[in-house]
Amino acid sequence: MNLAALSDLVNVGYLLAAIGFIVALKMMNSPATARKGNWVAMGGMAVALIATLFHPDIVQSLTGTGAGVDDVMRGETIRNYVLIAAVMLIGAVGGIASGRKIQMTAIPQMVALLNGLGGGAVALIALYEFINTPDPSRVQSVTTVLSAIIGSMSFSGSLIAFGKLQELLPGRPITFKGQQGVNILLFVMVAGLAAALMFFAASPAVFAGLLVASLVLGVSGVLPIGGADMPVVISLLNSFTGCSAGLAGFVLLNTALLIGGGLVGASGLILTLLMCTAMNRSLGNVLFGAVGAAISTGPNAALAGKQPKAYSVEDAAILLSNANSVVIVPGYGMAVAQAQHQVKEMAAKLQAMGIDVKYAVHPVAGRMPGHMNVLLAEADVPYEQLYELEQINPLFPETDVVLVIGANDVVNPAARYDKTSPIYGMPILDVDKARTVIVSKRSMNPGFAGVENELFLNDNTVMVFGNAKTTISKITGALDSY
Ligand code: NDP
Repeated sequence: MNLAALSDLVNVGYLLAAIGFIVALKMMNSPATARKGNWVAMGGMAVALIATLFHPDIVQSLTGTGAGVDDVMRGETIRNYVLIAAVMLIGAVGGIASGRKIQMTAIPQMVALLNGLGGGAVALIALYEFINTPDPSRVQSVTTVLSAIIGSMSFSGSLIAFGKLQELLPGRPITFKGQQGVNILLFVMVAGLAAALMFFAASPAVFAGLLVASLVLGVSGVLPIGGADMPVVISLLNSFTGCSAGLAGFVLLNTALLIGGGLVGASGLILTLLMCTAMNRSLGNVLFGAVGAAISTGPNAALAGKQPKAYSVEDAAILLSNANSVVIVPGYGMAVAQAQHQVKEMAAKLQAMGIDVKYAVHPVAGRMPGHMNVLLAEADVPYEQLYELEQINPLFPETDVVLVIGANDVVNPAARYDKTSPIYGMPILDVDKARTVIVSKRSMNPGFAGVENELFLNDNTVMVFGNAKTTISKITGALDSY
């Protein structure tokens, strides 16, 4: 096969890969097809990888006979193939091992880490291209500089996000006096160095300065953002990495990288905005809102000194068995306890007793969008029993019992009225309006946002303390007696 035909074939491979990515994104829109969507995306990535290994530039240096294709070049190409195979093996073994081990609740930090590595890889490509392209065109130098900046920021910012989510760093916003000034100064420095590289001196020292300043800007940009906002930040950084990979596609003239990067950039940004909308916050507020703000973390002052009512699992079973309608509200604690199967079993028993059971799914319950949908789908809970926030909120006043399982921030009434609360304005599930609320959690500890919850002290709320999985199993057992 001649090189022109091979080039066409590689481009067909890239086109197929791009179609795979787009179809996969579409399939990930619904929990019913999301798993298959992942397989399609993996297929697309495999096609892109294989096509790249047959890129004419590489094949020519292996098989070509023309001037410039000498034994040294051939030897180098073979060495590169061996290196590629070695790093692919290390990456695959590491990826499979961590993918199998990771708990679903730790997915955000895993995404942060992988995303950071992607950004770092793009910054290294930019550095390589800068060193090895002595006379770049204007487009090449602009795209190289931009991919270096965005890739480095994404790398260091993602590592800080990982540290916060993994609790290696404090989850609260880390701020200091004059922080905004420092950030502005760093931004100006990055912009100045970038302009110098694009329009004046293309010196390695300036490029190194740009990489270091971008890395520091990534760190200082993420430090003042609180733990509860980290998933939004990770999604935004993911979008950054996609954009930087797309720019690297320009630098390397690689269509697959360009299309793939563009898709990640766009979908990451859409996801970021969706999460902000679900939390009723602007992106600017998420990124810059914490600095210097007066934050209240306590419950309603009128409830000061009030003690929660602790109920046994048997008491909870009596309340549930006497109800006509029950709404189950799952949250992060259900995910940690992996209680979804026990919840489904309990719901089936309640239904068999003639009780109407619904699930109320908050868009940001858990640690990633759709977290509860995935868990409930895994337990085979029928979709028609799942109610979104807008559908279920009007039904709470006529609901006999709401069973809150490991949810906290998403049912905190302070979000409706307390302007000093970090979650003020976030749409919540109005469970406090139901006749009775049963809350299953281990203690009175706050949720992700670090805010106490007055719901737990309300007259119509009872607490059943303990691990969600054990509590729900015991309630299911106790239901047999009623
Ligand atoms: P929260 O983090 O507010 O609360 C979870 C509760 O679960 C805790 O209070 C904890 O209390 C309890 N818990 C933990 N482990 C267990 C266990 N084993 N058994 C029983 N209970 C347990 O969760 P929510 O789902 O209510 O809220 C999600 C938070 O994440 C919100 O702040 C949201 O803004 C944020 N967020 C979510 C995003 C998403 O996409 N899903 C995106 C961005 C932010 P205790 O320790 O007492 O047991």
